Amino acid sequence: MKKSVSAVKPAFTAEDKKTFRSLLKTFTLLVFAVFVSAVLITTVIVILLYKLGVLPQVLLTPVILPIIAMLACLLIGTVLSSFAGRLFLNPLRRLIAAHQEVSAGNYRVRVSDKTPVRELGRLIQSFNDMAGELEATELFRNDFINNFSHEFKTPIVSIRGFARQLQKDNEQPFLSSEQRREYTDIIAYESDRLARLSSNILLLTNFENQQIVTDKTTFYLDEQLRHVVLLLEKEWGGHAIEPELMLEEVSYTFNEEMLTQLWLNLIGNAIKFSPDGGTIRIVCRQRDGFALVDVIDSGEGMDAETVRRIFDKFYQGDTSRKADGNGLGLAIVKRIVELAGGEITVRSEEGRGSAFEVRLPL
Ligand code: ADP
Repeated sequence: MKKSVSAVKPAFTAEDKKTFRSLLKTFTLLVFAVFVSAVLITTVIVILLYKLGVLPQVLLTPVILPIIAMLACLLIGTVLSSFAGRLFLNPLRRLIAAHQEVSAGNYRVRVSDKTPVRELGRLIQSFNDMAGELEATELFRNDFINNFSHEFKTPIVSIRGFARQLQKDNEQPFLSSEQRREYTDIIAYESDRLARLSSNILLLTNFENQQIVTDKTTFYLDEQLRHVVLLLEKEWGGHAIEPELMLEEVSYTFNEEMLTQLWLNLIGNAIKFSPDGGTIRIVCRQRDGFALVDVIDSGEGMDAETVRRIFDKFYQGDTSRKADGNGLGLAIVKRIVELAGGEITVRSEEGRGSAFEVRLPL
């Protein structure tokens, strides 16, 4: 799943409007201040020069004096403007430098948003938000690549090691038939794991790139859930678990195969994380325009940190069962629920079990 994009903020909040002045107001005030200052400074200088008797008599005519005053005003105004302009230019320069850093790949750069001008403050804030998002995406991408290569490398290393042993044994036998069987079993098991991993990655990438759900049909959710429970018979049978089904008839329209995948992952997890003889309850009902499906188990449950991260790609809370999964099951579940416009919630308590609820709009 793509990291959800945070809601777009309004250009200015009421608070911004109270705290910062608008660019137009600041600019007008600034021009006014420059004019007044230039006139005042020129007047003071002219009066001073006159008092000191420095001004030559010839200049004190009603035509030349205003021209001199005007020129002096212009000069002083220009100098003052160049200083006042820094109020706008300095934050802009900081922003330009920061943009250059971002385009060079440094997403950690942030610009200080200390400026009394509202528009500039907002521009800087937006830049900082954008850099933050890019940094998070970059971290997420690096994490994904690390996890991805790790998950692939581990079984490959194991397969290669045991295959080499068998190769050597072919040239000069040194393994017992027991060992040979064990090694080939490991190779078969690890290849299965690799195959599962690549099909899960393909599935997830496929769902992530998909914006519209195709091949929709109308079917009964309760029937579909019963079918999935049957598909998983080997798993729950092996754990002496008897799933409890409380299924009301609910008709639903969606891609049937995708939804089957969702239940397979959720119910598969409920079985995987339950002790032998544990209980699993699957409830399906229709309420207020939603189809609600609960998958409740009395298994080992999760701590708060695990609950927070279970939908992340490759996240596995229970490392003792690492070999049984790859941490993609719930990421796939979440994406399917998103594509259906629904939501999924989880409640869990360590040692007491977990309850997943899927709400699908009808
Ligand atoms: P995995 O392939 O490890 O099952 P998932 O994405 O399906 O990957 O699940 C991620 C993690 O969420 C699991 O490793 C486990 O720690 C936790 N989890 C998922 N479902 C359950 C459950 N029913 N009970 C306890 N923990 C669960």
